Amino acid sequence: MEEFEGKLIIFTAPSGAGKTTIVHHLLDSFPQLAFSISATSRSRRPTESEGHDYYFIPPTRFKDLIDQGAFLEWEEVYENQFYGTLKSEVERLWAEGKHIVFDIDVKGAMNLKSQFPGRTLSVFVKPPSRNTLAKRLRNRRTESPEQVQARIQKAEEELRFENQFDVVLVNDVLSRALQEAEAIVTEFLGIQR
Ligand code: ADP
Ligand code: 5GP
Repeated sequence: MEEFEGKLIIFTAPSGAGKTTIVHHLLDSFPQLAFSISATSRSRRPTESEGHDYYFIPPTRFKDLIDQGAFLEWEEVYENQFYGTLKSEVERLWAEGKHIVFDIDVKGAMNLKSQFPGRTLSVFVKPPSRNTLAKRLRNRRTESPEQVQARIQKAEEELRFENQFDVVLVNDVLSRALQEAEAIVTEFLGIQR
């Protein structure tokens, strides 16, 4: 029997571009895939649960884990808000025979790709315009106006990185973006449908 080689499919984008929406759709569509649950030091939103959306870890513990080398990659994505991919998470999912889907920021995405260049596909999800991005963030109503502003500011920087990724997926009409995302994954994993 051929040995299983787990692949990595990384979705990255400015906050509000639609990564989470696309990733959830792919996880529902492809049983071969599993989601890498990141660790974060930010607080939990009411809609989120521990060990499903994130592992919520207090900042001091997060820093201990950095010192112990527990992360494949980590970033201070917003001031005093740390996010990272645990080595143990990736090992757990590959041991289950799954290809792993990541939802991480642009720097983390480039870092992870550089560690597994031969078996990673990196996808940059691009909003149709800056205005649309701002509108989606506001309508989502998960952040305070200050937090929305911080995300819009960071988006300006992140949008400059789009040419660092294997594929750019424009998320304008959602149904079309979901279809394209399915086609991207089907081709990368070599799935016959
Ligand atoms: P991200 O994970 O990149 O921060 P989300 O998936 O949370 O983004 O999407 C941000 C908001 O925009 C959500 O409220 C989502 O329902 C909405 N959204 C996502 N894609 C589209 C789209 N193509 N058209 C309109 N609204 C969208
Ligand atoms: P949010 O707070 O909206 O869930 O996520 C904020 C940002 O952190 C998003 O851009 C998301 O992709 C990124 N992020 C989530 N998990 C990780 C991770 O493990 N590593 C890195 N580098 N970024 C992450």
